[in-house]
Amino acid sequence: MRYQSSRPKRQFLAGVKCPKCETMDAIVQVRIFEPEADEYIECTQCQYIERRPDPEPIIEKNAQLDLVQSSATGTSGAVKFIP
Ligand SMILES: [Zn+2]
Repeated sequence: MRYQSSRPKRQFLAGVKCPKCETMDAIVQVRIFEPEADEYIECTQCQYIERRPDPEPIIEKNAQLDLVQSSATGTSGAVKFIP
């Protein structure tokens, strides 16, 4: 009974496109509680995983992807989008 609370929770994120394979509605948000609380997203199609707890920046990023690619190279973070 208690063990369930520490199991990962998976929740589909509607309207979110996978940054890698671009499949719509394939992204799940995964919450883990052990060994320490964390969140990430995972694509159920291509198993792409990204540490990004908030889905909104992803949607934004998809919208801006064209801009980012045309002015690319200024990647300051660990996030990489490989076409
Ligand atoms: Zn994918």
